[in-house]
Amino acid sequence: MITLFPELFPGPLGASVLGRGLNDGLWSLRASQLRDFAHDKHRTVDDTPSGGGAGMVLKPDILASAIDTIAPPDDRRARILMSPRGTPLTQAKARALAQGPGIVIVCGRFEGVDQRVIEARNLEEISIGDYVLAGGETAAMVLLEAIVRLIPGVLGAPESHADESFENGLLEYPQYTRPQNFEGAEIPEILTSGDHGKIAKWRRQQSEKITRDRRPDLLE
Ligand code: SAH
Repeated sequence: MITLFPELFPGPLGASVLGRGLNDGLWSLRASQLRDFAHDKHRTVDDTPSGGGAGMVLKPDILASAIDTIAPPDDRRARILMSPRGTPLTQAKARALAQGPGIVIVCGRFEGVDQRVIEARNLEEISIGDYVLAGGETAAMVLLEAIVRLIPGVLGAPESHADESFENGLLEYPQYTRPQNFEGAEIPEILTSGDHGKIAKWRRQQSEKITRDRRPDLLE
């Protein structure tokens, strides 16, 4: 992680099963302070936008020296810039990154990052959705959480992924647990029938219906 706020990490990623995986060394994270790569006494990392306008832009020279130190040219890890202009994050992308050698994430701040460093260091821009956050750190946590939970051993049983939303191009079927009767509503009878073939078929039908109703774009 390259960030102006390394103290935010691991944050929520340090809780629950992901946190246990972190403690057990199933995954690791290092958050580096971008300011450590500045070379003036004020540790300046940003400057005003060329051409005018509001806000500040992260300087390319400082960010490039951070990237070159943390991920030199022979480092095989993906170099990602969190950015609302990026390719929207998908489960397939998280899965691909989970199978790779790791990632280096640049967290933007202010108005963003000088375009030249994005190109010169071949940063892959990833967005977590069509809205604008104040900084890349929470977006990076979303990306990391999606990836880390797919690392073998972090979440336990691998089959717990197979049926999940987006894994097979569908949204998940509805889930139920006891009590049998909740405010007058019963658990669908089929789920307590013990007939695993019928249960699988019912779940598949429910998945297809929910996907058709809510996200027809996924079926296309
Ligand atoms: N001026 C930019 C927004 C800057 S927001 C624009 O209009 O495109 C500041 C930083 O927050 C960005 O550099 C990026 O790192 C992060 N960020 C904001 N929204 C994001 C999103 N939807 N996905 C990923 N990162 C985002």
